[in-house]
Amino acid sequence: MIIGVPTEVKSDEYRVALLPVGVEELIARGHQVLIQSAAGVGSGVTDEDYLQCGAELCQTADEVFERADMIIKVKEPQPDEYAKVRPGQILFTYFHFAASRDLTDGMLASGSTCIAYETLRDEQGRLPLLTPMSEVAGRMSIQEGAKYLEKPQMGRGILLSGVPGVAPAHITILGGGVVGANAAKIAAGFGADVAILDVNLDRLRYLDDVMPANVDCLYSDRHTILEQLTRADLVIGAVLIPGAKAPRLVRAEDLKRMKPGSVVIDVAVDQGGCIETTRPTTHRDPTYIIDDVVHYCVANMPGAVGRTSTFALCNATLPWVIRIAGGGLMESVKASAPLRSAVNIYQGKVVHQPVADAFGLPC
Ligand code: NAD
Repeated sequence: MIIGVPTEVKSDEYRVALLPVGVEELIARGHQVLIQSAAGVGSGVTDEDYLQCGAELCQTADEVFERADMIIKVKEPQPDEYAKVRPGQILFTYFHFAASRDLTDGMLASGSTCIAYETLRDEQGRLPLLTPMSEVAGRMSIQEGAKYLEKPQMGRGILLSGVPGVAPAHITILGGGVVGANAAKIAAGFGADVAILDVNLDRLRYLDDVMPANVDCLYSDRHTILEQLTRADLVIGAVLIPGAKAPRLVRAEDLKRMKPGSVVIDVAVDQGGCIETTRPTTHRDPTYIIDDVVHYCVANMPGAVGRTSTFALCNATLPWVIRIAGGGLMESVKASAPLRSAVNIYQGKVVHQPVADAFGLPC
């Protein structure tokens, strides 16, 4: 199979969908790999690195799209790319179709087969191609929180760890899933005083077992959330109800309970956010202030640490790329329930019920 990797064109996107090691693995299995020149630069991978592993460089995205049987990407195709996608071509990337009718129509019109990272569900019911980005965002949330608590960034002027004689910051984490647990781990490492809230008691028991002593695992109810807001220097929003908008756990009027200069990092912004005052921001303009509370609500946090994110993503996607390429699409999909769950569009027809439901399309 010919596998093509175009340069990402979405703004602030520095990741690339395949590393040189992936090129090596695919070529060893008899495939051919086309990389658009400079596709890896944002992640610190040079054209030379790819060439040394046997990739063929293409100067333009058009050439990659024209020649490849399967395109692997990071972000969903952008409007400029829709017309480049060919009938019968396989696209393997994040799509989030339900969020965009234009993208759905563009891919339906292309006649391609779209396999979405975000709906690939493994035998244990997990979403293994979303997990690495939640790990990145969770860990990064504390790094960003630490930065915006600094006075020049309009924060309270608090050092997360405190110092001998001065108490550390109090960090409240709403949601103890992948984002929340990774945030708690880093926050605890800083020596902060951490509370992690969840409604899943089994999850709380697990977290209580594995987290260090400076992390309290608390049941998430309105009373506890309000009590936490009065104490918190930093609040991390990390809840998810799969397939639904995030629940609004912090209402606009609750912000008045928070200390001036405290910081909210709403990682769940991509599902609408769990703080009522959340609105999506970008890496170029990441924060805004309401009621003296600094809000950071960047919807693609992993993009800022493109190199780490690329490696984390490719570690997770490469086995699936190899599987799709190896067996031929139909055989691979027949043999693998996770791959079946990831096919959203098959040769120009919606085959994933939630996408059909989102737009009233046949499935
Ligand atoms: P997850 O499913 O692993 O964890 C979500 C947790 O929220 C679960 O443990 C669940 O029990 C808990 N929860 C549900 N309702 C709750 C409530 N009322 N109170 C407290 N906890 C509650 O999900 P995740 O992978 O950790 O992702 C969390 C969010 O972060 C998602 O919306 C995801 O899309 C988002 N995310 C954003 C970025 C970004 O760049 N902004 C990056 C990665 C992930």
